[in-house]
Amino acid sequence: MNATSFYDTIIIGGGPGGSTAGAFLGKAGQRVLLLEREMFPRFHIGESLLPFGNDVLKDSGAWAKIDGAGFQRKYGAEFVVANGSRWQRFWFARGLVAGYGETFQVERAKFDHVLLDHAASCGCEVRQGCAAKVITRDGDEWCVRLEQGEVRGRWLIDASGRDSFLGRTLGFAKKPMNLTKRIAVYAHFKGVYRNPGDAEGHITIVRLEDGWFWLIPLAEGKMSVGMVRTLEDLKRSGGTAEEWFAKTVASSSELTRRMNGAKQIGQFYKTSDYSYHHEQMAIDRAIMVGDAAGFIDPIFSSGVHIATKSGQIAAGLIQQAEARKRGLTVAEQRRYSRDVYRYMEVYREMISMYYDNRSFEVLMHPEGRFGIVPAVTSILAGNFHPSFKMWWRVKLFRLVCAIHRRVPIVPRLDYSEA
Ligand SMILES: Cc1cc2nc3c(=O)[nH]c(=O)nc-3n(C[C@H](O)[C@H](O)[C@H](O)COP(=O)(O)OP(=O)(O)OC[C@H]3O[C@@H](n4cnc5c(N)ncnc54)[C@H](O)[C@@H]3O)c2cc1C
Repeated sequence: MNATSFYDTIIIGGGPGGSTAGAFLGKAGQRVLLLEREMFPRFHIGESLLPFGNDVLKDSGAWAKIDGAGFQRKYGAEFVVANGSRWQRFWFARGLVAGYGETFQVERAKFDHVLLDHAASCGCEVRQGCAAKVITRDGDEWCVRLEQGEVRGRWLIDASGRDSFLGRTLGFAKKPMNLTKRIAVYAHFKGVYRNPGDAEGHITIVRLEDGWFWLIPLAEGKMSVGMVRTLEDLKRSGGTAEEWFAKTVASSSELTRRMNGAKQIGQFYKTSDYSYHHEQMAIDRAIMVGDAAGFIDPIFSSGVHIATKSGQIAAGLIQQAEARKRGLTVAEQRRYSRDVYRYMEVYREMISMYYDNRSFEVLMHPEGRFGIVPAVTSILAGNFHPSFKMWWRVKLFRLVCAIHRRVPIVPRLDYSEA
């Protein structure tokens, strides 16, 4: 082994989770190697950020670079029924917790590149176009085999995204999140309708009776448009995913209006069956962050926030254990797995409600009293540490949804096209 091939920490994956962990560890003076199999910039889905995720970027020192990169500003989210009969707009600034009024919609090719360069500027050695091939353990050391050669380190962070490199190596099964299997079909377009004023950067969710579309306005007039429906629906449609996408757009007056004259730029992508988590997300000398630990349906845009937050926590745990010259204790491993799962669970509950047509009717006719709307807005803004004053309001919202499923409280939504 030569002197340059040994690191304190090796990070597999240079997405937001890996770059964030790398930035924190690099700043702390660790010798860190970050391996990324692609050459950046590269396309990635996951473009709508949440205001509560800004804090991690500020703590890591990346915020000024993101703020200055020319991304589209985002002040909220809106939900529209596919026939345009009802819409509801939420402004983050009206959430229950002050100070989280805005964030960005980002083209991930650029966003991930900024974060990766930031990790390098914090002292991380970044190798792009360099995939981890095999990992083995040798006492307290990890050995990572590369295309050419191998590297060694005391700590391993798996930030390989939905590939879950470490989980697969250790034989940890991915557990389902108890959500229906869905598929997303998406592409970038130009010439799609943009809201006027400060709502230009809102993510628009167009709700079908049995699925939904996202429209995420990006800088330079681009719009990310994606359709999410069940795998069963795709099989029934009998055509290709692109044909199915076009047919669904044509069947919705709201989407037809917004997409009239739109030009696709780049290719179509699809991702299916994507909600899962690992029960154990850390062992004594390795931690899974972001999608490598678990992934939940993207309706509430929680992925990047959970990836960066888990990257920050993982870096903190490693520094703490290093200072004591030991690995993670079983209690630390359990606490980490429990905390990350809890973040996902906050969203899983909201996601189940969103996919239930009766509960969605309540969201589209929000109760003005008891501060329910500000509480729901704070969840939409990415607050997955609900305080008591928020927690009981969200519970009340869920109770109203449960009652509405039995006894109509708000008007039914009509999805029919004239
Ligand atoms: C359809 C869809 C829509 C989404 N929309 C949103 C959204 O609007 N907002 C949001 O916040 N999130 C969204 N997400 C989720 C978001 O994409 C992810 O949660 C986020 O990218 C996770 O970041 P990460 O760093 O964990 O993983 P990733 O961003 O996936 O990064 C992992 C990196 O690891 C690299 N890698 C993998 N294997 C290896 C290897 N063996 N060696 C070296 N490198 C490797 C990959 O090349 C990749 O660059 C969406 C997801 C889907 C599927």
